[in-house]
Amino acid sequence: MRVLVVNAGSSSLKCQLIETDGKVSLMKCLAEKAGTLDVFMNVSFAPGFQKTAHDVAGLTVPECLEKLLRVLVTDPASPIRRLDEVRAIGNRIVAGGEFFSASVLIDHDVREKLSLCEELAPLHNPAADACIDLMRRLMPDTPQVAVFDTAFHATMPPKAYLYPLPMAYYEKYKIRRYGAHGTSHRYAAQQAANLLGRPLEDLGLITCHLGNGGSITAVNHGESIDTTMGFTPLEGLMMGTRSGSVDPAIITYLMRRENMSYDEMDAVLNRESGVLGISGISADMRDVLEAAGAGNAQAELAIEMYVYRVQKAIGSYYAAMTRTDAVVMTAGIGENSAELRERIFAGLAHMGMILDKERNDVTGQIGVNRVISIDDSPIKICIVTTDEEMRIARETDDLVCRMPA
Ligand code: AMP
Repeated sequence: MRVLVVNAGSSSLKCQLIETDGKVSLMKCLAEKAGTLDVFMNVSFAPGFQKTAHDVAGLTVPECLEKLLRVLVTDPASPIRRLDEVRAIGNRIVAGGEFFSASVLIDHDVREKLSLCEELAPLHNPAADACIDLMRRLMPDTPQVAVFDTAFHATMPPKAYLYPLPMAYYEKYKIRRYGAHGTSHRYAAQQAANLLGRPLEDLGLITCHLGNGGSITAVNHGESIDTTMGFTPLEGLMMGTRSGSVDPAIITYLMRRENMSYDEMDAVLNRESGVLGISGISADMRDVLEAAGAGNAQAELAIEMYVYRVQKAIGSYYAAMTRTDAVVMTAGIGENSAELRERIFAGLAHMGMILDKERNDVTGQIGVNRVISIDDSPIKICIVTTDEEMRIARETDDLVCRMPA
């Protein structure tokens, strides 16, 4: 089945056309900085995936998608000529609130509920909803599925998802932990079980999605029981530009002292903090590692803080579970940075997570799922390559195949 996967953010659009039968990607598209003067969009097709830049000057995220749909039916390298050759659309939705604990086919009722979730992810959900509406208009007969970042975490118990605030705020506004990166954590857990040759239901796993955004999840018997991201994707680990958890009193203090508006404070926490805020160099871990290697003290401090916060989160989930069989590393940093993994696990050997330095080496191993702990490490350490788009395509395929004829 040919599935168009659409991952829309506030200013970015990532799409793939995936043939789910052979699990192959036929087209990849990346648009960034949409809605600004610097917007760009690259589209590439199998087999060579030679990128072509398209003129998207002044376009918003849904407008970039409209442009992509035109490219899909006109580019000679495209495998399709008509939009109805796309059998289904899989939309990544960041926040599903308490409405959705699994992927769903989008109908009128689901679309209404999606609108109600917009304020839970104000950067992402409105763009995704606008893309859904556009495709309903242009491809009215093509089924659309919503795949939620939050769905995997629907199994968290109240003691993990509630905040110790007056209950009235949960009842009134549904303020609670929802988590994120669920598709990635679910996939990482399943792949780790495959690597270990044991049923997922028998395992206690700590999955670490360490990318530009980062979150860690305690996966007990295949279910998320706690995760570091919270009401929004701001809580938890130190990230590329996000602060992660800070004393909430700092926020009110700073707003008073600096006379900041809500939007200004929001920008500080979401865009100016984290690895960028401490290093003063970049949000990109590769740049920061390079600067630290060249002797930059702020870059080194940013890495130390990043590592320390990951170690503490892993330690807290070790305590939250009754058993831990493996820690799973995934996403840009988790998969690719042997140095960061070495530094993280150097502090966790006393808990029984013992890295094998040679296995940890990435040379020639990018994209290979594997165990990187020593043979008799009491807790295994695994690397899993995340592939969110493929997961979304497969969930979409599953739901569409189950549709009544
Ligand atoms: P993601 O959000 O999963 O695409 O991950 C992006 C993050 O992964 C960025 O901070 C990159 O700098 C980081 N990253 C990718 N490759 C490497 C690498 N080889 N070493 C260190 N960080 C990396």
